[in-house]
Amino acid sequence: MLDLKSMSPEELSEALSRMGEPSFRGRQLFQWLQRGAKSLDEMSNLPRGLRDKLRENAVLSPPRIARKQVSQLDGTIKYLWELSDGNCVESVLMRYHHGNTVCVSSQAGCRMGCAFCASTIAGKARDLTPGEILDQVLFTSLDAGAGVSNVVLMGIGEPLDNFDAVLKFLELLNHPDGLNIGMRHVSLSTCGLIPGIRRLADLRLQLTLSVSLHAPDNETRSRLMPVNRTYDVEALFAACQDYFRHTGRRISFEYALIDGVNDHDWQAQRIAERLHGMPAHVNLIPLNRVTERNLRPSRRMGEFQALLERLGVTVTVRRSLGGDIDASCGQLRRRALELSEKRGDAQ
Ligand code: SAH
Repeated sequence: MLDLKSMSPEELSEALSRMGEPSFRGRQLFQWLQRGAKSLDEMSNLPRGLRDKLRENAVLSPPRIARKQVSQLDGTIKYLWELSDGNCVESVLMRYHHGNTVCVSSQAGCRMGCAFCASTIAGKARDLTPGEILDQVLFTSLDAGAGVSNVVLMGIGEPLDNFDAVLKFLELLNHPDGLNIGMRHVSLSTCGLIPGIRRLADLRLQLTLSVSLHAPDNETRSRLMPVNRTYDVEALFAACQDYFRHTGRRISFEYALIDGVNDHDWQAQRIAERLHGMPAHVNLIPLNRVTERNLRPSRRMGEFQALLERLGVTVTVRRSLGGDIDASCGQLRRRALELSEKRGDAQ
């Protein structure tokens, strides 16, 4: 079966040619898919014969809204999407002055095992297809009735652990016949999979790379993020230097401040030393409490930020949106999993 949603217009044209159809139909089909068509029947300018042929060879399975939460504070909307096989992922629509941003998931679950993160608690169920990642942008935008100017890969999953699908997703997102969202309006966040960072650097894309740092020393970082046991802090910063040299793009480092764990003055100093001479930006994040995790938000946000500034580091504190709806990623899916586990137990 063809996964139409994951294909570029050129690939669709080729597939249609193989079915004996004129290749210009590929572009028409792509445009329908990119407008969020939910069935082949909607595609009124495609001949009925072609739609019948496609029905036999292809699947079109738009995600279903399993849950939706709207923040009364700032209009942030969080979606839990049920995919065709029953797996669920989350996306979030955030409204900023400069436009709307959609945060998407790249995997159902995650196998990276970070100690503070809700997405990884039950491990990874599977990778998402390019079409499933794109559908989150598309159907979030359609359901919310909101145009999308920016996309961030900061939902559930590790994008560089699903590299090829993510790359294809970016190609589709970028396409002039599709959403036409430029790379400069995309951020990709990674926990630090170095081979992926290097592959990305070679492609010289103009997207913003975010690296989840969370600690500048190997002892703390390995405790919080098992990936650090394979790719340590020194190797990570070397890869980041190379990334900047290749792409000319400044890297953004994410740092969730955790009480008594990564909020010491010496750690701020270590961050400044590590970043010396590298154009970079540190984004401090108030830790979102995850009920399963025994970690508390730092009480030193202001001091830590001021110290970094004094040390010459460009630093911002992430504004929290959707505070009343638990908009941090992984939590809705986690709750849905818990519910289905309970239901399973009851049977
Ligand atoms: N796997 C990728 C992208 C997904 S997570 C990555 O690790 O970067 C998006 C961001 O949210 C990451 O920086 C992640 O470390 C952070 N995050 C996860 N759980 C969090 C929590 N409980 N509080 C604050 N930030 C968290």
